[in-house]
Formats: sequence, structure tokens, C-alpha cells
Amino acid sequence: MHRTFALSTYMRHHFGQRVQKIPLDAGFSCPNRDGTLSKLGCVFCNPLGSGSGMRERGLSLAEQWAFWRDIHLGTHGIERYTAYLQSYSNTYGPVEKLAETLTALDGLPGLTTLALGTRPDCLDAEKLDLLVEQKKALGLAEVVLELGLQSSNDATLTHINRGHDAATFAEAVHAAAERGLLVVAHVMAGLPTQNGREGVDELLDTVRYVNALPVHGIKFHNLYVCRGTVLARWFKAGTYVPMTRDEFLDALSEAIQCLDPKIVIHRLNGNPQKGELLAPDWAANMRGMHNAIRAHFKEHDIWQGKKNGAESGPPEWFSPSFEG
Ligand code: SF4
Repeated sequence: MHRTFALSTYMRHHFGQRVQKIPLDAGFSCPNRDGTLSKLGCVFCNPLGSGSGMRERGLSLAEQWAFWRDIHLGTHGIERYTAYLQSYSNTYGPVEKLAETLTALDGLPGLTTLALGTRPDCLDAEKLDLLVEQKKALGLAEVVLELGLQSSNDATLTHINRGHDAATFAEAVHAAAERGLLVVAHVMAGLPTQNGREGVDELLDTVRYVNALPVHGIKFHNLYVCRGTVLARWFKAGTYVPMTRDEFLDALSEAIQCLDPKIVIHRLNGNPQKGELLAPDWAANMRGMHNAIRAHFKEHDIWQGKKNGAESGPPEWFSPSFEG
């Protein structure tokens, strides 16, 4: 029994087969890093961990695509792909840079959908309209904007030096949805606050905020401490203490039950890059943690929307065999 509406289920249902994400580094930056808003970045941001490094090694988008596609095609026979512009803020800068990047995707074999990671304050009508235009020109089935919200609490957003408020996120979601672009919200559990750390109540506030918007998907992230970040300094000084594994499992369980059952879950926990994790140790093994989450949901009979519209049991569209 599937207890969440997972991205893999959504993709199989809509495309009849697995659609694999290919991460691409198009050389974008971030206004919270380059000095436009700040040079510090969000307190948890590891600037070394945000990019794949492929662009620095001189690989074009087509070469990056070929590298990953050869692996997925050769190993699993996967034929359809999502171009995932992942590194930093992929709509930041002049609209011409975005146009040039999108044009470079034309003709990539197996290209089916596009996903762009970005900040809500790096989108305007011109860029959104360009995305709509290029969706058609490239024959893309979907264009997905992965937007960082992290928390719906503006005091927390200020404390983590996010550089935008929750209302900016909501405006970007509406502007994207009005144009038929899909939005995936990124949210974090265990963010630092002036008085300590966000807990279950704050995560639930954020989930309710997301539920009320035309959001298509969500990514949950357990906040961990990366080396070389502001958060690492706070951790070493004892002013930030990460969630324990059990605290995260409890917070995530509540969040999942409160989440609208029609929102597609792209991720349940974070995935530290090799060598970047300072604490907590339990966050190191993403796959192991994912299995622990599933076991926890089963043991406590938890499913998505159990306290929000799906009280009688997991909806049928959670199942990979759903054919409706
Ligand atoms: S918006 Fe993203 S890339 Fe920019 S500082 Fe924050 S986490 Fe880092």
C-alpha cells in the first residue's frame, strides 16, 4: 500500500513509463550570494554543494545530458527524461540568459519535461511568458518551477537570511499557475529561529500555507548542517541544535497527514552531498532514512491527507497501478 502520492507514481500515470531527472548546470548564480541581496547566502547554503561542477569542467548542457543519459539508458533502459536545471537560481539574471539556456535544450534526445530550481523573487512576467513560449517550442509536456519557500514564517525567513518573504513565494506561485506552469514548493523541517528552532507547529503552518496555494508538488527537507556555512558556526557555538531523527520523523508524519492528498511528493528527506555533512549523523544516509520514514508511516498507520481530506484511507491514485 502506498501512503503518499509519490512523484514516480505521478510520472508513470501521466507518461506510462518512468521519467528520469537529469541534473544540469547552466552556470546561473544567486542574488543571495553575488552581493545583490547578500554575499552570505541562506544560512544553511553550501555554495560548493549547489552545483554539479560539470559546467566548471567545461561541459556544455548537451554534453552533461549525454553523460547522464548514457548511464540511465544503458543501465535501466530509460528513454524519457526531465531536464532539471538544478544549480543555484536558474531564472536569475537577464531574460536573454534564460532564453539562451532554454534554446540549448532543443533536440536533446528523450527530453520530455523541464524543471527549474529557482527563487520566487527571480521570476517576472517576461521570464514566465518565455517559459510558456519555450514549453511549446520545445514540445515539453510540462514545465515545473521548483521554488524555495522553506518556511511560511517571515521571522524565520529573515533569521535564515533568505532575502524574500512568504508573500513573494505566493505571488510567484499564482503567476506561474495562471500560465499553466507547475510549481513544486521546497520546505524545510528544523529551521533555526531567534529563539531556537522551528518544530512541528511551524512545519504544519508551512504545509497549510502551501495547501492553500495552486501548488502541484512539494519537496520536504530535514535541515542538516553543512560544513563552511553560517549554520555550521551556530552549531559549533551551540546556538543551533538540529532535530533528532525521532523529532524529524514525528514532524514529517504530522506534515504528511496535513498535506493535501493531491499534492505530489517529490522528496521526503534531504540528501547531503559527499563530504558536506557536519551534523546530524543520522542525515547521512538518504536511502536508509527514506526506508525508515516508510517503516514509520506503516507502523503508525500514517498516510498523506489522513487529517485533510483523505480520512477514510489512502486515495486510489497513490497506487502505481491506478489507471483512472
Ligand atoms: S537561494 Fe539557494 S543558492 Fe541562493 S543562497 Fe539560498 S540556498 Fe543558496
